Amino acid sequence: MESLLLGTRELNIALTRQHLALFEKFYQELMEWNQRFNLTAITDREGVLVRHFLDSLSCLKALNRGALEAGARVIDVGTGAGFPGLPLKIVCPGMRLTLLEATYKKVQFLEHLVATLALKEVRVIHKRAEELGHEPDHRERYDYALARAVAEMPTLVEYLLPLVRIGGKAVAQKGEEAAAEVHGATRAIATLGGEVRQLVPVELRGLAETRYLVIIDKVAATPDKYPRRPGMPGKRPITG
Ligand code: SAM
Repeated sequence: MESLLLGTRELNIALTRQHLALFEKFYQELMEWNQRFNLTAITDREGVLVRHFLDSLSCLKALNRGALEAGARVIDVGTGAGFPGLPLKIVCPGMRLTLLEATYKKVQFLEHLVATLALKEVRVIHKRAEELGHEPDHRERYDYALARAVAEMPTLVEYLLPLVRIGGKAVAQKGEEAAAEVHGATRAIATLGGEVRQLVPVELRGLAETRYLVIIDKVAATPDKYPRRPGMPGKRPITG
């Protein structure tokens, strides 16, 4: 856990012994389930600690920790094996977290993990973002919508922005191509009621490449027709 401890210290996050025990259990469960189902291609311990746990926690550079602790509503879209949502929940237990995932096997893992780690106020939903974005309990209900490695920017904002309340934020974790991706999504972001606030560079201990947090403010309501039906945001992203 040394690299997670040092890495989080650089992000100004203080991990307790309890946090470390939860991350250790998370790692063990991930490795065990990964032998049966393909949950992650990263299997070395150091890789999981840095590329999954630490990278997820770096989202805190874009989030208001006080608001999270006070019960902010957060949705992680296309969470896979729980990234970035679950590491954030471990460190900020006050947040109300929804994990959205389209693949049933991953949903089963997430339900097992949430129970095993005894995490409270976590909902796991097996659905596509294009469907959830039209449900009244979820549409424009979240303070933050997060995503990592789910889709290209113009498609991704059609998944995220319909879920964010006006005044809330969408946060996308991206790589070196972040600025170009944002540029290519200008029209989609404006159409869906967003406004780019900032690209925050993130340097992680032990990673050569710079990562970026793309922060998008929700400034206006998303028109009713978005998100379009499942598959459409990927097939015909809003461009131009
Ligand atoms: N966010 C995780 C991470 O960074 O490790 C998982 C990334 S994985 C490459 C992308 C995940 O997004 C997959 O598990 C996939 O099932 C899910 N996904 C893709 N499109 C989705 C959609 N429209 N709605 C819900 N989940 C989706």
